[in-house]
Amino acid sequence: TSAPSAKTGLDHLEIQGVKKVFGDNTAIERLDLSVRKGEFLSLLGPSGCGKTTLLRMIAGFETPTDGAILLSGKDIVSLPPHRRPVNTVFQSYLLFPHMNIADNIAYGLKQAKVPKPEIAQRVGEALALVQMEDFAGRKPEQLSGGQQQRIALARALVNRPQVLLLDEPMSALDRKLREEMQLELKRLHTKLDTTFVFVTHDQDEALAMSDRIVVMYDGVIQQIGSGEDIYANPHNGFVAGFIGKQNFIPAEVTSTDSTTATLRTANAVLTAPTLTLKPSTAAGEPRDLAVGDRVRAAIRPERMHVAPAGEGSGEANTARGSVISYSFLGDVIQYMIVVGDNDEILARVPAAGREPISAGTEVELSWDADAVAVYDREPGAVAA
Ligand code: ATP
Repeated sequence: TSAPSAKTGLDHLEIQGVKKVFGDNTAIERLDLSVRKGEFLSLLGPSGCGKTTLLRMIAGFETPTDGAILLSGKDIVSLPPHRRPVNTVFQSYLLFPHMNIADNIAYGLKQAKVPKPEIAQRVGEALALVQMEDFAGRKPEQLSGGQQQRIALARALVNRPQVLLLDEPMSALDRKLREEMQLELKRLHTKLDTTFVFVTHDQDEALAMSDRIVVMYDGVIQQIGSGEDIYANPHNGFVAGFIGKQNFIPAEVTSTDSTTATLRTANAVLTAPTLTLKPSTAAGEPRDLAVGDRVRAAIRPERMHVAPAGEGSGEANTARGSVISYSFLGDVIQYMIVVGDNDEILARVPAAGREPISAGTEVELSWDADAVAVYDREPGAVAA
């Protein structure tokens, strides 16, 4: 992720009080969002959270039920898509099969009656941007999926949009190509002044590329921030579980003092430095922890230490368990460990210089108190 750069200036795309209702289904609740000029912003969330609907309203393919969308201070809601200084790259590339690559890219400029020499120059520039200069004369079917996606990008960029909208543009590509395209997109973004708004359901992709991520669920923004910020400080249980891996352990608060809360789970005693109960989604409010609260304790897998069981200290923030399985992931070893009868805990430890602990081995898990965050149970969750 890149730090906010000098070109990140005033907010120039403003979503104000935008709502979208389809029949009796509210896809987007009243939503406010400011996008900065030149920023790479991702809309991230599970299927059905409303991210595509939001993107389509910015593009002009959907009309908001309520609210305003301002670009550089001007409301664009009444403008048809082709009159907005905005272009979209879709998941399916939608290239014209009978036209060669150069004509595909030139299509919009021809429609707009741009003079021929200028078209030729801009098509050349766009092809150079995506490093596809040698492919101008080919037909789309003669290109690979990744190459077609680059052409779709060039076709959007040739119009010099103020905002480039990307609707899951890489979901049709295989993993390796996808990672290459991620780097390619970042390179392009760094070169251009264009604001990128990128829709994805893939958290790794959002983390790898974005200046800021907007995490959405159920038509509501759950959190906005840099990847680092959202990962380290999720505001609610949804974000804590959606971004990165997470262990959620049902627990009950047994005591609190001015600096610590003690929690009891089925198999361990936890102390947490946090005295705040974070809500399960953005609809709730954080509040002080109280004795008797039934909560979820959250601990990231990489905050777990795993050692072969010795005497077993039985202290707070330790638990005895048994390795169910491990996976060697290159840089880390990931263990699935069962604690007690059924608490399954994921632990990730650096792989370098260690032998994996084999399945069936009794182990002791431990973690620091500051690794524990406390979230409300999900509404409707069965009390443990
Ligand atoms: P996905 O990743 O699956 O595309 P998404 O987060 O982009 O999901 P949207 O496509 O924006 O979600 O859909 C949000 C909600 O609005 C869903 O409940 C969806 O069924 C509904 N919806 C979207 N478009 C329409 C439409 N044209 N008519 C009726 N309902 C719609």
